[in-house]
Amino acid sequence: MSFDYHVYLGPYLECEYTLIPDQNVKWACGNKRCVKQGLVTRNKEANFCPVCGKLLAKQIEVIEKPNVDSWEVREEIDEVLTPIPLEYIELDSPYHIWIPNVTRDPPRRFYYDPRTDYCVEPLGRANFHLSEVVWLAETFMKEMKILKKHYKECLGQWGLLIYPY
Ligand SMILES: [Zn+2]
Repeated sequence: MSFDYHVYLGPYLECEYTLIPDQNVKWACGNKRCVKQGLVTRNKEANFCPVCGKLLAKQIEVIEKPNVDSWEVREEIDEVLTPIPLEYIELDSPYHIWIPNVTRDPPRRFYYDPRTDYCVEPLGRANFHLSEVVWLAETFMKEMKILKKHYKECLGQWGLLIYPY
């Protein structure tokens, strides 16, 4: 099996959000005598249970979601920074990761073949390229002000990111 991914090595922003309550609305058969009872339907267009024909019932699941919609913020800052999709990456803390939406000149040449999975890997003090983190903060000063309005904290980092298209 193959999968498509981006590999990014360089400065990025780690922006901490807070979790707020939200609801997930699902539709399922509510007929207690039906084999499909409680089974959530994937087809939102289907109003009736395919087995017993009863009208599907609404089920509300209470969930938590980030207080920041990164794709909305992306538009607010004219897409000069971009959030990477993190839904496949397990992070210990509630962060959105933002990278500069610019092409490096000259391009960074390196080879890395990820054999494990998608990741966000800060490379630690020894590999911390301070000048590049400073460049990020200076170049995107205006956008960082906007990000700081939405997030609890925005921290400059330097590391390896592997994420899906
Ligand atoms: Zn049914």
